[in-house]
Amino acid sequence: MKVLACDGIDPAAVKRIRDAGHEVVEAKGLAAPDLIIALKGVHGLLVRSATKVTAEVLANTPDLKVVVRAGTGLDNVDRAAAEARGVAVRNTPNANSVSVAEITFAMLLGLERHIASAAGDLRAGRWEKTKYQGREVAGRTLGIVGFGRIGREVATRARAFGMHVVAYDPLVKTAPAGFDWVKIADYDTVLRECDVLTLHVPLTEGTKHSLSTREFGLMKPDAVLVNASRGGVVDEAALHTALTTGKLRAAAVDVFEKEPAAAEHPLLALPNVLPLPHLGASTSEAQKRAGMDAAEALLEVLAGS
Ligand code: NAD
Repeated sequence: MKVLACDGIDPAAVKRIRDAGHEVVEAKGLAAPDLIIALKGVHGLLVRSATKVTAEVLANTPDLKVVVRAGTGLDNVDRAAAEARGVAVRNTPNANSVSVAEITFAMLLGLERHIASAAGDLRAGRWEKTKYQGREVAGRTLGIVGFGRIGREVATRARAFGMHVVAYDPLVKTAPAGFDWVKIADYDTVLRECDVLTLHVPLTEGTKHSLSTREFGLMKPDAVLVNASRGGVVDEAALHTALTTGKLRAAAVDVFEKEPAAAEHPLLALPNVLPLPHLGASTSEAQKRAGMDAAEALLEVLAGS
């Protein structure tokens, strides 16, 4: 069968599909109508984030049997339209967890030790040893919202850093096996108790803007936020207000409501914000894992069709 691999799927994954006897065409930067043309006679489609598999694309690709996103969310695939057409949709939920947990700590430590700003000053010829007094994370309380795969990887690392952990997840009523040192609490308690808040929830109707003015009002003014989940979970205007009115000390932000974030985005101008361009899953290990998991998911559907 024929497979279209978009957005730079890992070469090992492409090889795995070819070795299974399928023809693989690789492409980048395709949007409708070019994507529709490229999908003529194609049975399997692999994408990362860039390619948008819209209802229009799905309505015009009669040969397509399966779409696999090498990554966690399925934001760029119209699942309802795929389901209506009988096109299987898969993702690779386990591939990125460690990378996102690691960047969560990279962001937290980078924020609390002013890593990016200090490096920028030094490159500009300024040896700023006293300007950048930082904060330790040991002994502080990490609030985790969303205690799924990534939330638990983050908790494990927090323990190694000597942090206390309090977590909220509507599906987790008591500490799961192996996490009896984590305090499970309701959302408001997590907000009130944490020194560092980190979000690991999907973007849904229920989580959209679930961190907004009311929630910032419950947090300690000395608290900091790390968001490596999805941009829309945080109300960016409320975050900006919290950061500029002393309700929140600082924030590290990997994800934005609209990506790519524009250069004039108000959060980018704040000195107490550490911004990143959605790098959570951008490691060679995660991309390899996502590619191979995606290849296996695609082969399984094609084998059964
Ligand atoms: P997961 O499904 O394993 O865990 C998500 C958890 O959130 C679930 O346990 C769910 O019950 C919980 N949840 C749902 N609604 C909630 C709410 N209102 N309050 C608190 N918890 C709630 O998912 P995961 O693999 O841990 O991924 C979490 C999120 O991380 C993804 O949905 C994605 O948005 C994000 N992510 C970001 C990057 C990145 O590059 N920054 C990469 C991968 C994933």
